[in-house]
Amino acid sequence: MDRLAIVVPCYNEEAVFPETAKRLTQVLQDLIKKGKIAENSFALFVNDGSKDKTWELIAAEYHQNPYVSGLKLAGNVGHQNALLAGLMTAKEMADITVSIDADLQDDVNVIEEMVDRYHEGFDIVYGVRSERKTDTAFKKWTAQAFYKLMHAMGAKSVYNHADFRLMSKRAVEALSQYKERNLFLRGLVPLIGYNTTTVYYKRSERFAGESKYPLKKMLSFAFDGITSFSIRPITLIAMLGLIIILLSIGAAIYTLISFCLGHAAPGWASIMLSIWFLGGVQLLSIGLIGQYIGKVYIEVKERPRYNIETVLTHNTTDLSR
Ligand code: UDP
Ligand code: MG
Repeated sequence: MDRLAIVVPCYNEEAVFPETAKRLTQVLQDLIKKGKIAENSFALFVNDGSKDKTWELIAAEYHQNPYVSGLKLAGNVGHQNALLAGLMTAKEMADITVSIDADLQDDVNVIEEMVDRYHEGFDIVYGVRSERKTDTAFKKWTAQAFYKLMHAMGAKSVYNHADFRLMSKRAVEALSQYKERNLFLRGLVPLIGYNTTTVYYKRSERFAGESKYPLKKMLSFAFDGITSFSIRPITLIAMLGLIIILLSIGAAIYTLISFCLGHAAPGWASIMLSIWFLGGVQLLSIGLIGQYIGKVYIEVKERPRYNIETVLTHNTTDLSR
């Protein structure tokens, strides 16, 4: 029988944790009763350096609930890294992992469908939102624009899929081979290439607490997603440069001809405007290329993506060294 680990990254989630633990425990018990997963399956809550009582709640729950395990990171490393830490820890103990946010926006009841797909032979099962009714119009629009932009830039990702997905042990094993620090799992997982499928669910509102992704974080997440998977923006800059050079050659010929014909030379405004415009284009281009160089800089340092402080797991080898 396959052992399932549900990996849940938590950052300041004391408001939802009790409910999340309760619902995931129910899901696990239900699946065990139906004989779909092993009896020692569990939910692994990853505390991503929370400033509130999240870890105390996880630890207390661990001591009285055999289905709850905890992983405490040594600081806040962000959603993606926290999720990776959870998956890497879980793969040592489990045959199947399901990653899900702590806020209960993703429907825990489709986990069963994911497990069914796994038993049919799929290694990766994406949870995809069938609608976005509960999101604000702004969030809906920005999310859509983001996916479209990603696609136009040539970075593969699954439309309307967040980080709610099932992965088999060998898929997580494959994921561990991707060493990059600029982590964007949504773009990375499709590169693994095993058998994949999707299940659909309705996304609901956050059960409690506040979103940890304000606009600023969302924008940098989107920018990271593109620049980590595509160098097309740099190609676009080169093309823009070429077009501007051709245009300026055309303009030079035009000026020369009109000078020969005795017309007045172009005025001050057009010169100034073109200087400002080109200056802006150059600064933007250098800035963008700088972003890529910055990424290379981060990657070559090969710093660890997270540090583990404590692992609380039931009946397996203690991983906390
Ligand atoms: N999260 C995390 N570390 C962070 C920020 C967020 O582990 O630095 C977790 C958070 O606890 C939640 C998930 O990532 O389980 C997604 O965050 P959130 O629900 O706030 O994002 P949204 O759904 O609003 O995009
Ligand atoms: Mg959320």
